[in-house]
Amino acid sequence: MLKTVDELATEFGGLEGRRVLVRSDLNVPLDGTRITDDGRVRASVPTILDLSRRGARVVVAAHLGRPEGKPDPAYSLAPVAGRLAELLDIPARQATDTVGESARATVDGLKPGEVAVLENVRFEPGETSKVDAERGRFADRLATLADAFVSDGFGVVHRKQASVYDVAQLLPHAAGGLVLDEVAVLRRLTEQPDRPYVVVLGGSKVSDKLGVIDSLLARADRLLIGGGMMFTFLLAQGIEVGRSLVEPDHVDAVRRSIALAADSGVDLLLPTDVVVAPEISAEASPSVVAVDQIPGDQLGLDIGPATADRFRAAIEDARTVFWNGPMGVFELPPFAAGTRAVAEALTTVDGLTVVGGGDSAAAIRSLGFADDQFGHVSTGGGASLEYLEGKTLPGLAVLDD
Ligand code: ADP
Ligand code: MG
Repeated sequence: MLKTVDELATEFGGLEGRRVLVRSDLNVPLDGTRITDDGRVRASVPTILDLSRRGARVVVAAHLGRPEGKPDPAYSLAPVAGRLAELLDIPARQATDTVGESARATVDGLKPGEVAVLENVRFEPGETSKVDAERGRFADRLATLADAFVSDGFGVVHRKQASVYDVAQLLPHAAGGLVLDEVAVLRRLTEQPDRPYVVVLGGSKVSDKLGVIDSLLARADRLLIGGGMMFTFLLAQGIEVGRSLVEPDHVDAVRRSIALAADSGVDLLLPTDVVVAPEISAEASPSVVAVDQIPGDQLGLDIGPATADRFRAAIEDARTVFWNGPMGVFELPPFAAGTRAVAEALTTVDGLTVVGGGDSAAAIRSLGFADDQFGHVSTGGGASLEYLEGKTLPGLAVLDD
């Protein structure tokens, strides 16, 4: 069972004055220092506020991007901590390091109800180390900053990392409300989803999503494939895809998935037309071609309009939909129509719709949709996929007691 913050508080006889380390997922897309989608920051606010209102001295740990285990100003959490402070509307102090002198002084200076944000945990090589002892050493230092740990970064619970996994072994712990909400929704997708259950997959990496495809084929009624990953599927069927994104190493696995879909009676819908352009640029002049007519010197950057219509029709009568991965390079307007069509179709569904994935969530917002037009917008892409795949997520397993 995952313990709640309420239960943790009871254990302590109240959290007033206690130092509580919260692992949040503040890994937002940035354009320089400008946050282009603050969804994850917003999603992190309720747990931090809850702890603050209980009088805890709240210490927030999070990562941003992939710095190489050392301080790198380009990956400083400062702009994100600034946004968090605005949203919290209570004092939030920023440490200039993760577990060093600044972190210690900042945490020591906290009054009950105040919040400190540590620098990017990935500035420390121990955070992501594969060596248990290295992660353990960093986790030890994190643990000295707190009396209890609350795991609220759903987007990272599939990672065996120091601030997610190891530190939970060192401190009394609980799952934050965000993690509990996310798990509750994903559980509904794995236990008796209302049918038809439609899964839409896109995005850039087949390799990330292959594992989940096979387990989804055992549960879903229809599987729709778009985005960059469609080209590996087309390649697996002997179709030439020009300069489109492909992962040739995964062609065999994709072929097996296609056969498995046929065997299990799942409708596998692959695009029939595609938007192509000579380059990935908003200025490129796009055209629509059949999937077997992709010019050798061009790349496919969105599903075509006929495919978008088929996908829309396959989604509209669903009672459950899980969608991960944009249908095209939605960041550029000429290639956003497929993603928009799928998003629109989801908003008409009478049932549970779940959008998972950092880029997918950013896509719906940047296309002008509101979160409440969907049943649930998950903050975690990889984490939700691994959950649906039936894998044990280290960051959840470690909380289970
Ligand atoms: P999520 O974060 O939602 O899990 P991914 O990270 O897998 O999604 O993929 C998102 C990225 O996929 C987007 O940045 C988008 O531009 C890219 N993408 C979608 N379609 C294509 C395509 N046809 N070619 C290249 N990249 C694509
Ligand atoms: Mg992504």
